[in-house]
Amino acid sequence: MSSVHKPEVTAGASERRIGARVASFFNRLTALSPHGSAALRDYRILSSLVGLSAVVALAAIPAMPVWAAPLGLVVGGLYYLIFARRERRRMQLLRQPFPDAWRDTLQRRVPLYSQLTETEQRRFEGEVAVFLGEQRIYALGGLDDGPSADGAQVRLTDEHRVLIAASAAILLLGRPDWRLPTERDIVVYPSSFAEETYSMESNAHTIGMVHAQGPILFAIDAIERSFPRRPSYLSSGLLFQAAPQFAQSHVGLHEFAHVLDFLGQQGRSTGVPVLLPPSVQRQWHQQLSVERDRLMEGNSVLNPYGLKNEAELFAVSVESFFQDAQRLRSHHPELYGLLADFFNQDPASRSLPMTAVASFRPWFALGSSVRYTA
Ligand SMILES: [Zn+2]
Repeated sequence: MSSVHKPEVTAGASERRIGARVASFFNRLTALSPHGSAALRDYRILSSLVGLSAVVALAAIPAMPVWAAPLGLVVGGLYYLIFARRERRRMQLLRQPFPDAWRDTLQRRVPLYSQLTETEQRRFEGEVAVFLGEQRIYALGGLDDGPSADGAQVRLTDEHRVLIAASAAILLLGRPDWRLPTERDIVVYPSSFAEETYSMESNAHTIGMVHAQGPILFAIDAIERSFPRRPSYLSSGLLFQAAPQFAQSHVGLHEFAHVLDFLGQQGRSTGVPVLLPPSVQRQWHQQLSVERDRLMEGNSVLNPYGLKNEAELFAVSVESFFQDAQRLRSHHPELYGLLADFFNQDPASRSLPMTAVASFRPWFALGSSVRYTA
């Protein structure tokens, strides 16, 4: 009996093995990245479709020898290698261990980081690592750590770089599929600069700027102020450090909000990013108009710099959303709701670490007379 049934059993087992391999192939094809991004998965699926289409197209050409059809798979492979390059590089960066010194900077200087769950912190670190791997950041007069660094007018440390990257990571945390453009270099100035001449004269007041097609400029002291150092105090001979604090104004969030706003708008920033679905864009325009009126009436928690235009209103709203979330939620619930949907984050509901209570400072003590240009 067994000898009769054996071939059937073997055939069944072999079908199951093939089935398992096909299922495993599709699982790998459709798996998300460890940080929840669908981008690389989409490239894998698209490349497979391109490859299969090329196989079918080659097979359909009458004069083509049969052996040539599988060459279509090479077309799919090349498509993947060329177009998924950034995503594959991203995966490489994510696989590298996150340096302890960078984590220490996040713990000491980035209050939002200390409010995150462990999983969110790993995602946040991933965005920081990818940003620093993709983005050129250098001091005015000295290109990165290269040979011309001697002319650098700012002593740019790893801590500064991590803080700039953290500004971007805050915006990207809830949206693993968002990608910032990498063609804009980041140039760090030693202090505020003049809007037109970029000189650092005594009355220069610009602390940050994004050019539509050019670099992002930051004044280093404004970056420092955006991530206040934790106050420390001595008690019974022991040194205590309070939790990091949220600065009222944040040049990093402000300028990267403009970068999101510039995306897909041919060098314009409108205050209504194209990342928003069209129906929500109308809602945004209406809400920004309400917020402008409230600022004019003096009935707003937003920085009055937002009165300059809609793009600035969006940027100062983003600053308040992350830096002053509870007040924004209670005084401007509609604006808060739109920003929460946009960023897929709810910063007002994150709890502050216990030590933050001891280091509380009222918002008006943090200063708000800040000026940006674009
Ligand atoms: Zn601005």
